[in-house]
Amino acid sequence: MSNSNLVSYTKISPNKTSPRKHSIDTISIHCMAGNLSIEKCGDIFSNIDRKASSNYGIGSDGRIGMYVEESDKSWCTSNSDNDNRAITIEVANDGGANTGWHVSDKAYESLIRLLVDICQRNGIKQLLWRGDKHLIGQVDKQNMTVHRWFAAKACPGDYLYNLHPKIASDVNNILNNSNSKIQNESILSKETDEIIWNSLKRAGFTDVAAAGIMGNLYDESHLCSNNLQNSFNKKFNMTDEMYTHVVNNGSYSEIQFVKDGAGYGIAQWTYWTRKQGLYEYTIKHGFKIDDLSKQIEYLIIEISGLMSILNGADSIRNATYIVLTQYEKPGDQGIAVQNRRTEYAQKFYNKFSKNSKKQDGFFKVKIKRNNIRIKKGPGINYEDTGKTTGIGIFTIIETKDRWGLLKSYSNNKDGWIILDGLERI
Ligand SMILES: [Zn+2]
Repeated sequence: MSNSNLVSYTKISPNKTSPRKHSIDTISIHCMAGNLSIEKCGDIFSNIDRKASSNYGIGSDGRIGMYVEESDKSWCTSNSDNDNRAITIEVANDGGANTGWHVSDKAYESLIRLLVDICQRNGIKQLLWRGDKHLIGQVDKQNMTVHRWFAAKACPGDYLYNLHPKIASDVNNILNNSNSKIQNESILSKETDEIIWNSLKRAGFTDVAAAGIMGNLYDESHLCSNNLQNSFNKKFNMTDEMYTHVVNNGSYSEIQFVKDGAGYGIAQWTYWTRKQGLYEYTIKHGFKIDDLSKQIEYLIIEISGLMSILNGADSIRNATYIVLTQYEKPGDQGIAVQNRRTEYAQKFYNKFSKNSKKQDGFFKVKIKRNNIRIKKGPGINYEDTGKTTGIGIFTIIETKDRWGLLKSYSNNKDGWIILDGLERI
């Protein structure tokens, strides 16, 4: 939940205030019973003897004033319990009592925007209105209240009172739309790694192989399906979004896309035949070029030829190396790139593999090669013990960075091995 207001308002703080004694779960809309500017309303509130204030005020010009911080209680509804839990809003009237205290369209629009903002920031999922004063305080049934229920007043005036069902529905429509938008975004941004992992597993890759593939993909694109190779963002003067947009709408033609030499998508497809394959698989079949599911499918088709060798890899480092040198084939395949991609791969393995164990405390590793050297300290520069682990299962009792202390060296803490790519059991 964001803490900052999305609507702009003028801060006018005429009152000494006290903190709320209840969380915000209610909305109370009032009328000013007059056509006051937000500043004029603030002047009136500034007379403390009147004991009158509200959290917000809205003028007929649509401007919003804030008088009392949301974290504080206003003196507004002639009822302390209600004021402790409600955000109170005074709305100016461009018509008199004979109109039921009419409000301007601009004031109404600002009221809706302000209410959406208040609900989003305070975790109010939707506004509920039944027009029943017996439901005061039962916020799961009704979370809007009106001044007339607490005192002998016309407030908020018949005009706004009768609009309460519409106010609730206008606000809820916006809240529902933005909720589904936020959910969609979170599927794309937060769970992309899980989607890819599950797809690779369904396709038949082992955990080690899937991790090796994902470590490479992450280094290529951060798993963004609309990622354009960074150097081409500059060269084309286009953001990832702009490039993706022109490819999708056809103004950047197939031949331009295929032959421009720019890496694109989760795997940063670059070579023209592979870009052409991606284009055919997506655009030609009515999908967008940045469609994540389609890119994953295309990736799996391409890489399936390596499945048996990848599934036979004895470590995450090896799986990562196979993908690097036989699938991604970037210009730089040096040790730094190998290390970085292995590190990413290990993170995905730790996150998703049921075989992975927590980083801290004791755990066991399975070593399938007999050439893992034992160092006297946790780093490549420490003296070599002259020994290797041999093949088998070993217990690690402490870790430092990428290194693990072998249990059999616990007395002097002088037997460490590098953990990169070792399978934890
Ligand atoms: Zn009132």
